[in-house]
Amino acid sequence: MLFVWFLLQLWFLQGCVCEFPFKSYYDSTLADLMSINETYSGPLLSPFNKTRVPGSKGSKEVQEFVLDEFKSMNQNWAVELQNFEENGYEFTNMIFSLGSNDSYLALAAHYDSKLEPDGFIGGIDSAAPCAMLLYLSHFIDDVITEDLSVIDPTLLGQFTGVKIIFFDGEEAFKEWTSTDSLYGSRHAAAKWEKDGTLDKMDLFVLLDLLGGKESITVPNYTKAARAFYKNLLQIERTYNKFYGASDKIFQSSVSNNIRISDDQEPFFTRGVKTLHLIPFPFPSSWHTLADDYAHLDEKHIHKWCIIMCEFIIKYWNPDKVPLHPFKPVIQEITS
Ligand SMILES: [Zn+2]
Repeated sequence: MLFVWFLLQLWFLQGCVCEFPFKSYYDSTLADLMSINETYSGPLLSPFNKTRVPGSKGSKEVQEFVLDEFKSMNQNWAVELQNFEENGYEFTNMIFSLGSNDSYLALAAHYDSKLEPDGFIGGIDSAAPCAMLLYLSHFIDDVITEDLSVIDPTLLGQFTGVKIIFFDGEEAFKEWTSTDSLYGSRHAAAKWEKDGTLDKMDLFVLLDLLGGKESITVPNYTKAARAFYKNLLQIERTYNKFYGASDKIFQSSVSNNIRISDDQEPFFTRGVKTLHLIPFPFPSSWHTLADDYAHLDEKHIHKWCIIMCEFIIKYWNPDKVPLHPFKPVIQEITS
C-alpha cells in the first residue's frame, strides 16, 4: 500500500507540483499555527491580540510569549534584547539569530501598538506580520533540523544566517516626526552600524500592514532589491496556480517612486539593501479601531506565510529552486 502511495506521489509530483517543495509542510501546519476563528485562537496569532504600547503590561506579555516560542524551537537561536529609554518610555527590541553572523538575511516587523486611539490593537499593524515572522522562524528551524535528513540537502543551498527582528516603538506617541517614531529601528541600526553588524546584513525585509481583508498591492520601492521583488512576483504566480487564488499583490510594472517612512528607513539610509513589504495605498483600516482581529483574513495570512517561506528557500538557492524534492512529501504521507 505504501508503495502504491509512493508511486502515486511520484507521478503527482512529476506531473505538476515540483515547484512547491514544501506544500505538504504548509498544509499540515498553517491551519493549527495560524488559524483565525471566532475566538482568534491561533497559537501564533492570538498572543498579539492585545494593546502593546511600549513598556506596558501587554508589551511585556508579548515579549515573554515571543521569547518562549524561540526557546521551544529545536535550534539554539541566539537572543539579543536591546533595552533602552527615550522620550520617557522604555523600549525592548527582540532579535533572534541563527547561523553565520558573517552574512545574514534580516526579517523584521514591529510588535508595539499605537497609544491612540485608546484600545487600538493593530491587527495588520503589525500583530499579523509578527505572527508571520514566528511561523517563518518555525519553518526555518524545522527545515534545518527535523527535515534535514528527509529533504534534498541542496535545498538548504547557501544557508548563511538569519536574524528575526521584532522592533519596539515603531509608532509615534503624538505626531509622526523623525524623533517621535521608529524608536526601535533607529536604535538597532545605530548600534549595529557602530559594532559592524550592519555590514554583514545582506538584505533587510520589513513586513508591515499585512494580513487584512482588503485586497492590496505591494509595489517595489527600491531599485537595489528589484531582483528579490521579482522572486516574490514569481512565487505569487505559483501560489495562485496551486491554491486557485487570483489576487495579485506584486506588480510586474516598474518600481514605484514612493518611499514610505517605516522601520526600513534607518537601514536604507545607511546603505542596506531593503525590501519593504507594505501595501500602497494603505488599507482603509490603517490607524483606526477597525484594525483589529475581526478584520484579519486567514487566507491572506496563510498566503503571506507561504510566499515568505518560499522566498527564504529561494534566497538560499538563487540558481537551484525549483528542484525536485520528492522526499519530504513521501515522508509526510508515510508517517
Ligand atoms: Zn502603524
